Amino acid sequence: MKQVILETAGLTKSFDKGNAVLNKIDFSIHQGEVVVIVGPSGCGKSTFLRCLNLLEEADSGEILLEGKLINQEKKNVHKYREQIGMVFQSYELFPHKNVIDNVCLAPLLVQKRNKDEVKEEALKLLKRVGLLEKAESYPRQLSGGQKQRVAIVRALMMHPKVLLLDEITAALDPEMVREVLQVVLELAKEGMTMVIVTHEMEFARAVADRVIFLDRGEILEEEKPEEFFTCPRTERAKKFLNTFHYE
Ligand code: ADP
Ligand code: MG
Repeated sequence: MKQVILETAGLTKSFDKGNAVLNKIDFSIHQGEVVVIVGPSGCGKSTFLRCLNLLEEADSGEILLEGKLINQEKKNVHKYREQIGMVFQSYELFPHKNVIDNVCLAPLLVQKRNKDEVKEEALKLLKRVGLLEKAESYPRQLSGGQKQRVAIVRALMMHPKVLLLDEITAALDPEMVREVLQVVLELAKEGMTMVIVTHEMEFARAVADRVIFLDRGEILEEEKPEEFFTCPRTERAKKFLNTFHYE
């Protein structure tokens, strides 16, 4: 059995003393595994990823990275977050920095790595996602799909132990969705450990080793993709999948 990379036990989160947005989530992902989380809007998917990445503080429960408890000490948050990459729907690139500077910034400033080595790796990764000729461009000169591929490269530059992707194609025009999902499929093939939130059901089916259906802050189903997409067990999952006219 492969090593568990990231794990939660009883993870619970609410905002403003309201109902729990996440209710006792027990979750784990192994080395090289791809877990896709699907569920209706507002069910807690983004909150879950943000808790995993320590961008939100859970009310209770544990988060373990390679077996080490990471959510109960304040001082090492940055150290752990570096190891858990995240890509957002909105890219979050620095507008005043060009592509190469965007992707090299954190490895140089935070990880204090060697400049030549970092630049070499950046160019290699940009080439891999088809953006070598855009290395000197600024974000405003790029399409949404190109910006998102830069954001993926930026996350990879930190050599994360796991990558969290939160609806990274949701803001893209249809013709650009494909080029971004293709990069993610390749990462999966290469063995990148990933937790992916997406509404692209065909992609989910193709990329996932396991699908989690989250509804109202609880894991209602956890299945192999073939099983989840062909015969979901719960009525709520059936209803959810029907909204996609998924065959
Ligand atoms: P999803 O990503 O599945 O659409 P979210 O995790 O964004 O869902 O949101 C889950 C619930 O938590 C929603 O009801 C949302 O309104 C609420 N929520 C998310 N972030 C905050 C916040 N910062 N403050 C208050 N409520 C929030
Ligand atoms: Mg969301």
